[in-house]
Amino acid sequence: MNEPVFWSLKETIKALADKKISSDELNLSYKDRIKKLDSKVNAFRYLPENLDGIPAAIKDVIITKGIETTAGSKILEGFIPPYNATVISRLKAEGVGVIGKTNCDEFAMGSSGENSAYGSTKNPWDLTKVPGGSSSGSAAAVAADFATFALGTDTGGSIRQPASLCGVVGLKPSYGRVSRYGSIAMASSLDQIGPITKSVADARLVLEWISGSDGLDSNCVSSKFKVESSKFKDNLKGVKVGLPKEYFAEGLNPEVEKVIKEAIKKLTDLGAQAVEISLPHTQYAIAAYYILMASEVSSNLARYDGIRFGKTRDYFGPEVKRRIMLGTFALSSGYYDDYFVKAAQVRSLIKQDFDNAFEKCDVIVGPVSPTVAWNLGEKIDDPLKMYLSDAYTIPASLAGLPGLSVPCGFSEGLPVGLQILGKYMDEETILNIGEIYEQNTDWHKEKPKL
Ligand code: GLN
Repeated sequence: MNEPVFWSLKETIKALADKKISSDELNLSYKDRIKKLDSKVNAFRYLPENLDGIPAAIKDVIITKGIETTAGSKILEGFIPPYNATVISRLKAEGVGVIGKTNCDEFAMGSSGENSAYGSTKNPWDLTKVPGGSSSGSAAAVAADFATFALGTDTGGSIRQPASLCGVVGLKPSYGRVSRYGSIAMASSLDQIGPITKSVADARLVLEWISGSDGLDSNCVSSKFKVESSKFKDNLKGVKVGLPKEYFAEGLNPEVEKVIKEAIKKLTDLGAQAVEISLPHTQYAIAAYYILMASEVSSNLARYDGIRFGKTRDYFGPEVKRRIMLGTFALSSGYYDDYFVKAAQVRSLIKQDFDNAFEKCDVIVGPVSPTVAWNLGEKIDDPLKMYLSDAYTIPASLAGLPGLSVPCGFSEGLPVGLQILGKYMDEETILNIGEIYEQNTDWHKEKPKL
């Protein structure tokens, strides 16, 4: 474990500062590893020749100047952006470089990585399993130690769910915390960029680097996330952890449930108080999401008309076409009130559920995914089954809340992630609790054998 590729971001920064390693040596060790092992995983879409700084893997929906960016789609193949996304400029200012662009579901639409036009990414823990999606390559790259950390995007769970399925840390910031400028749009009222890392402390640091208001994203209004002195030092005394009964109901795999319950016991052993809560509109979240998201998709993707952007529409994959059609239908006159307006009302109710719940607790804890990673090909012909796998991540996305996935055990030899949801703009508390959990467990130290 002494090889640089196994270091966390914080360890890497320290080794560079202490001159234990040069930036060139660091990059060489990562490049060697990628060359040896990525043919098995397919985490990367594109690896730039030159790299300077701490190596980060960047989801291919995030625009990188001079480096091909495709959003996992053939329609954008060959597109070399003339500018950087705000997050990339901010990382560069901190001495971070792009080691590669990571494979993802086309335009971030998917839960398994199988919707990429460039072949599926494989789960490093078991190459016959999906890595989760849509930030599949980013999570797999961190799990396989192909990068010090990665950036993903989360619209309905695409950071938290692949992080959970690949056994790494994933943070979806509050909506508006991080600039979306230069993130290829899927559903603009939901999209957020966030870190996928080897430790919670690393996620906190990356969030501090990339957050903060940006004149190029009018929804990004918050001040910069600052690493504050933590409220809870080494135990969780006084923390109220809400357990939504709807997240432990039918559909949750019993083995996954066992792992999550043990993690909750750990939190209470550390001093937290568990309180039962209810998020009564949870059952409507997926339906509302698939109307609102698809409507925004139909509007956002109208720009790829073969005239202004990209190749002709024939190059869109089947899932993208399905969502454009669904969204166009939901927005069409005569149906708009029945579908779009209704879904927007449901969204408000879901947000209210969280507001009410947070009167009783500081954070909400539960599973990220109802199951561990499933077999490649298992759900690809059944979109509804695939959509249902996002039941526990979508509600917080609709409410704009921050969410963290932390490794908390294994089932069938595959990683399980614990989801910690926080109040709007209160990343500090969920990171703080995640960190204390991590310091008192060893799950994040487990590595896949590649
Ligand atoms: N899996 C969800 C979907 O397919 C979420 C995607 C995302 O967060 N980008 O819409």
